[in-house]
Amino acid sequence: MRLSDSTWTDVRDVETDLAVLPVGSTEQHGPHAPLGLDSITAESIADEGAERYAAEHGTEVLVGPTIPVGIAAEHRRFDGTLWVSEDTFRAYVTETIESLAAHGFDRVVVVNGHGGNVDALNELCGQVSRAGDAYTVQYTWFDAVAFDDLGHAGPAETSMIRHLRPELIREDRTEAAAVGGADRWGEWVSGTNLAYDSDSFTDSGAVGDPRDGDAELGAELLDEAAASLSELIAAVETRRE
Ligand SMILES: [Zn+2]
Repeated sequence: MRLSDSTWTDVRDVETDLAVLPVGSTEQHGPHAPLGLDSITAESIADEGAERYAAEHGTEVLVGPTIPVGIAAEHRRFDGTLWVSEDTFRAYVTETIESLAAHGFDRVVVVNGHGGNVDALNELCGQVSRAGDAYTVQYTWFDAVAFDDLGHAGPAETSMIRHLRPELIREDRTEAAAVGGADRWGEWVSGTNLAYDSDSFTDSGAVGDPRDGDAELGAELLDEAAASLSELIAAVETRRE
């Protein structure tokens, strides 16, 4: 059940305390993939996971609106990247969850599509849960699926979009993405990443080779992510803090 597509009376009448809140980012994903990639993946996984849970358990899950801008200053030197400060992000997501809880949706899984959001989400979800207004955890899809080496705009993310929105992948630019890209995120010395911004180690913005993978891999990743999200929603539903 999508909140943005529902009426207030639909929301009043639905019997569930479960919600998922997609959180994305608007940031460069190489010359071949859209700036909205992380929002598209978060939203699609939230939709699929909620639908799967409803089919398996007979209980609706409210899907909140996708938060489109996150913590992405590391990509700021690539055109079109947008970012907010960690304080702004934490406050905005916290108050969005609190407003869901005010309507009775007080079991909330934040479905995240962007690595830069993870630390702040863990912190704010812990604070909201300890305050007792809601029980909430964050779910980051690429930490839940079996895929080594996510990279950035590499095979996994590019394949997801090849499955979800194929018209948004510029296949004729994947070679340039790979040639000007990096094999690995960051510049590491003694276990420390020296680089704050991604343009210092990738010229194209990509990490990993987006020519690998295809729409079929994307469909498999989406399926796996939706299954693990449904399992997580079930755990959040029954857990009592
Ligand atoms: Zn991404």
